[in-house]
This record gives sequence, C-alpha cells and structure tokens, in this order.
Amino acid sequence: MNAYESACHYFANAASVMDLSPNMKKLLLTPEREVKVQVAMKMDNGEIATFVGYRIQHNSARGPMKGGLRFHHDVDADEVLALASLMTWKTAVVDIPYGGAKGGISVSPKSLSDAELELMTRKFVDELQDVIGPDKDIPAPDMGTNAQVMAWIVNQYEKYHGFNPACVTGKPLELHGADGREEATGRGVGLLTEAMLQKFDRPLTDTTIAIQGFGNVGSFAAAYLHDHGARVVAISDISGARFDSAGINIPAALQHVSRNGSLDGFDAEQQISNEELLTLDVDVLIPAALGGVLTKENAADVRARYVVEAANGPVLPDADTILHQRDIVVLPDILANAGGVTVSYFEWVQNQQYFRWDLERTRAELAKTLIVSFEKMWAIATEKHIPLRSAGYLMGIGRVGRATVLAGI
Ligand code: NAD
Repeated sequence: MNAYESACHYFANAASVMDLSPNMKKLLLTPEREVKVQVAMKMDNGEIATFVGYRIQHNSARGPMKGGLRFHHDVDADEVLALASLMTWKTAVVDIPYGGAKGGISVSPKSLSDAELELMTRKFVDELQDVIGPDKDIPAPDMGTNAQVMAWIVNQYEKYHGFNPACVTGKPLELHGADGREEATGRGVGLLTEAMLQKFDRPLTDTTIAIQGFGNVGSFAAAYLHDHGARVVAISDISGARFDSAGINIPAALQHVSRNGSLDGFDAEQQISNEELLTLDVDVLIPAALGGVLTKENAADVRARYVVEAANGPVLPDADTILHQRDIVVLPDILANAGGVTVSYFEWVQNQQYFRWDLERTRAELAKTLIVSFEKMWAIATEKHIPLRSAGYLMGIGRVGRATVLAGI
C-alpha cells in the first residue's frame, strides 16, 4: 500500500461510520489542483540539472491551503497527495482556518551546494508564485527544508508581489518568524502524550518512553517529556539507537547533537538497532522520523501500550489494525504532530497584524488549541467506541464537509 492508498484507507474507514454519500466522498478525496513543474538550473560546475517539483492543493473549503515543502529523493506525486489530504483533515481537527496542501522536489538536498539549493528554491518559487500566497496557499518547512529555505521563498515571492511575510511560515525570527515555531511540533507531541496518559491515570513521572528520530520533532518531544519527569529510555537517529534503563541524559544528547549534527558518537548504556527500539518493553513508543515504520511484519512485536505518531504516517493500516486488536492505543498523526501547523497559523496571524507575540503567549495558545482538540477527539472515540484515529477523521471530515455544503458548490 503506498502513502496515498493508506490515506484513502483511513478516510474510507471514517467515512463508513459517517454515512457520507459517494458523491461527497469523491469531492472530498479529489484534490483541487495538482501542479507538477520542471525546475531546470545551472549547477556550480556549469552543467544543466533538471528536477521535478510538486505542489498539490487538496482542499480550500475552510480557508487558504497550508502545508509543508519537502526536499527529499523519495518525493513523488502519490506521497505529496497523501500528505496534502492529511493536512486538510489536520487543520480541521485543530480547527484553524485553513485547508490542506503539500509540495516538494524530488532531490537529495545534501547533494547540492548552498548556492545550488538557493537557486533551486528560487526557480521553484518562479514556477509556483501564481498559485501560492497568504490568502491562497502558504508553504512551510518539512523534511529537507528549514527556516533558511523559507527566507529564500519569501524573498523570491516578494520580487513578484511586494512585501508579503505571511506568504510562508517557519521563517527565521529576523524575517518575521514566530518565537516558538521551531519547538512547536515536538512540544505538542509532549503535551498530547501527557494528556492521553492522564486519561489512563498514568503520570509522566511513572512512564518509560522510546523515541525514534532525534531531529526537530523527536528532540523537542524528548526535551518536553524529560523536563516533565518521564524516563526517556531510548532515542535514535540515522546513526543508530541508544538505550539506558535508568533514562537517557536528554540535555547531554541535545548538546551532543547541537555540536555534532547527529547522535553519532553519543555514549549510552547500550547501543541497539533502530528496529529493536520499536519493540522495546516501554510504556510509550514515539515514532518521530519516517513514515511506514510499523508494518504488519513488526506490529505484533510492539510491547509499548501507547504509540504516539509524531511522524506523518508511521503506522501502516495493517499495523494499525493489529495494534488496535492488541488494545494498544494509537494517538494519530492527524492530531499528535499538529503543533507545528498550529504555531504556523499563529505566525501567519502575527504577520497579517504586523504584531509580535512573546513565547509565553504562543505556548499558552498552543496548549489550549491542542488540548481542546484532544478532549473533543477523546469524547467522540469514547461515545462511538472507535479508535482515536477514526474519531479524528470524523472531526476533520465533518468540519470540511459542513463548510463545503454551507458554502455551496
Ligand atoms: P528532521 O529531518 O529534523 O529529523 C528526522 C530525524 O529522523 C533525524 O534525527 C534523522 O536522523 C532520523 N532518522 C532518519 N531515518 C531514520 C531511521 N531509519 N531510523 C531512525 N531515525 C531516523 O525531520 P522532522 O522535522 O523532525 O520530521 C520528522 C517527521 O515528523 C516527518 O515525518 C515529518 O513529516 C513529521 N512532521 C514534522 C513537522 C515539523 O514541524 N518539523 C510537523 C509535522 C510533522
């Protein structure tokens, strides 16, 4: 099952509980616009290189479309469409006034020099500048892109449209970015893990956690959970996984990564493989790296009682069914990692108002937005005896569907 088939599977599961008409299902699944462009440029050595870029605008029923830009060699139309539709439901679940979109270029950014990366980004904006913008579609960082790439995007977009900081979020603080955006996704994962455990009368101080991925999302989630008393016993990145039964020294790990760029060389009680981390005997497993890491092959071996989807799509549908049958609670990506888009929304609001919030306000508004959404999702799941994922899709699809009907076709 590819990424788009997985997204359709989860949509269909929820739609079957909702009694949606086939015509409404088709409307909600069909993207509004799919853009595929050629990004041709001269490399540093004078050779011509041609890349393929995508922007898929899935749905704008609730507002301008919002979604990240991914620079990664695996980017293709199916993956971009799956992630664009996920953004539609995610923005609706946290009830921010956006639709969903996603984009990317099929490229390994590490193979480019800084100058080539900048030129490629600007050429991509040249192709997209007509269809994106603060009231149309607002990109943000995702895998392989960062605040610097967003800075190049604003600068190139403004050459066509004048001063327009709200055309993209995740910008550097010096260029109208928002304090608290960088930590937002991981912090949200921490806040929501805590809220979910409270429903089972389990305090964080009595909880062991394993986290796969120690990039933006995984590292800030680890920091929040460690600071609030949880015992993070395993962490990992592309260089492998580390385990310590007494708890990993998270501040030391963060410092190691900020000095060395990865966990490579970081000492812990035991080195284990990335696969072993997924099946550790812990209370909570947090996949925060890649999609599709829990599959029908390894789901039966998961020993955690709770799985928090910090990455997009880490649990494949077959694995989701197995986890559900084993009474393992899955907090779905559709809410678990929505902290990032929520604070992106706050950044866009500040840009539109030419006004700046402090970190305290951003954190308070983030917590309020996520906890209200979580409580609603929990109430639907409890009332209808369905998994949290289905409850989330019900919320998202319901809100988008009602907006579509009210506006009229
Ligand atoms: P990132 O590039 O900052 O970090 C990814 C981390 O995963 C790195 O530590 C990398 O070494 C590690 N990794 C890669 N392959 C691995 C493997 N095989 N095993 C273990 N670790 C591996 O990316 P990120 O921004 O933290 O995003 C992670 C996930 O969260 C992605 O699925 C992304 O779509 C999702 N997400 C991110 C945000 C955000 O605001 N950054 C928001 C929502 C969802």
